[in-house]
Amino acid sequence: MAATRIWIKNPLAVLTGNDLDASGGLVIEGGRIREVLGAGQQPAAPCQQVFEAREHVVLPGLINCHHHFYQTLTRAWAPVASQPLFPWLQTLYPVWARLTPEKLALASKVALAELLLSGCSTAADHHYLFPDGLEQAIDVQVEAVRELGMRAMLSRGSMSLGEADGGLPPQHTVQSAEAILADSQRLIGRYHERGDGAQIQIALAPCSPFSVSRDIMRASAELAEQLDVRLHTHLAETLDEEDYCLRQFGLRTVDYLDSVGWLGPRTWLAHGIHFNTEEITRLGAAGTGICHCPCSNMRLASGICPVHQLEAAGAPVGLGVDGSASNDGSNMMLETRQALLLQRLRYGAEAVTPERALGWATRGSARLLGRSDIGELAAGKQADLALFKLDELRFSGSHDPLCALLLCGADRADRMMIGGRWRVIDGQIEGLDVAKLMADHRQAARELVRGS
Ligand SMILES: [Zn+2]
Repeated sequence: MAATRIWIKNPLAVLTGNDLDASGGLVIEGGRIREVLGAGQQPAAPCQQVFEAREHVVLPGLINCHHHFYQTLTRAWAPVASQPLFPWLQTLYPVWARLTPEKLALASKVALAELLLSGCSTAADHHYLFPDGLEQAIDVQVEAVRELGMRAMLSRGSMSLGEADGGLPPQHTVQSAEAILADSQRLIGRYHERGDGAQIQIALAPCSPFSVSRDIMRASAELAEQLDVRLHTHLAETLDEEDYCLRQFGLRTVDYLDSVGWLGPRTWLAHGIHFNTEEITRLGAAGTGICHCPCSNMRLASGICPVHQLEAAGAPVGLGVDGSASNDGSNMMLETRQALLLQRLRYGAEAVTPERALGWATRGSARLLGRSDIGELAAGKQADLALFKLDELRFSGSHDPLCALLLCGADRADRMMIGGRWRVIDGQIEGLDVAKLMADHRQAARELVRGS
C-alpha cells in the first residue's frame, strides 16, 4: 500500500530556511517532505489528507543543542538562585548525586515535553552524572525520547576529575576512565543510528575541562573518530574556567581543546563566550560548532557569546536552552527570542533579524549535530514541522507573522509533526498525561532536594 500523502495547505506564513517559496504548502509522504509548493501550486499527485494551515505559521522543527534534562528537578532552587557558575555547581553537585533512574526518567520526560510544546523536534542532552545505581542513565533517556516520539542526540557525558585530584565535582560523583569508555562504546553500539531520519544518536561528552582528566578528553576524541560519532563539551563559559585552565594546564581554553585533539568539525561546544580573536579564527578554520545559550549565560552572568565573529570566521552557531537549573525553562522558541534580543545588544538591531535568529535554532543547530536531513524545509528533508497559531492576546495587532513569533513572544506550538507523524495536536502532546507527569515530577523534585 502506498504511503499516505498529507498536504499542509496554504500556511499563513512559512520559513523554509532556504530560498524556496512554500506559500502553497508542503506535501508529506513516508516521513519526508516530498513537495514544496509555491503560491497557487497544487500537489503533483492526489493527497489522502489535507491540513488547512491558513491560521498557522510553519517552521522547521526547532533543534536544541544543549541541555541537562535532569536539572528540571532543581529549577529555581533558592540556595543557587543568585550564584555564578562555580559556587552554583558546588552547591548543586551533592543534590544531583542523589539522582536515581526513576527521577531521571521523570526529569527527562518533563524536559522533552516542554521542548516539544515549544516547537522543538530534536533535542541534545548532556548527561554526565552516573552515581552508583544510575549506570544506565542514557538507557533511561532513550526510553523517554522514544515515548515522546522526538529525535535526540544523547551525549554520554563524564566526570573523572574529583576534588581529590584538583577537579570541581565531589569524588563520589566521578567515574574511572575505563568505566566511562566502556559505557560509551556500549551505548554507541546499542543505540546510535546513522543516516537520514535517525531518531536516536549518541555523542561523547566529557563534562568540562574542570571535571575530567586530559586522558579522558584524548581517549574520547580517539573513540569518536574511530566510531564516527560527535564530540561535545562545555567550553569558555566563564572567566573562572579560563583561570582554571591556565592554572591547571598552563593553557587557555582553546589551546587546551587543541592539545587533546578536539579542535575539528566533529566537535560542538556549549557556550563559547570567552574567546580572543585568534581563538575565534582557529575555531572557524576548524569548523568547530558553538551552541549559544543566551538565557543561561544571562542567568549566571557568564557573558555574551560572540556569534557574529564566530560565524564570520566559519564556525557554525546553533542554540540551546542549557540545563534547567540555569535557565530555568526549556522553551526553544523563547530561547530564540532571547538570542535575538541579547545579540542585538551586542551587534545592533539590523545585524540580528528574526530570520537569522530562527536560522540559529534550525539550520545552525542541525549543523552542530552533524545533520543535513533536518533544520530546513525542502524536498527530501525529514517532515519535522513546528506550527504556531497567532490567536492569543499577545499577537493581536501584529502584522508580519514570522516577526510576530519572536517579537510578541510565541511560547507554545499548536501542532508538531516529527518524521511525518503528528506529535502535538491543538497544543496537546499525543498520548502523554501531562498532569500525572507533573505530579510525579514535583514529588521527585522535593525528594531529591530533601535527600529522602
Ligand atoms: Zn550546560
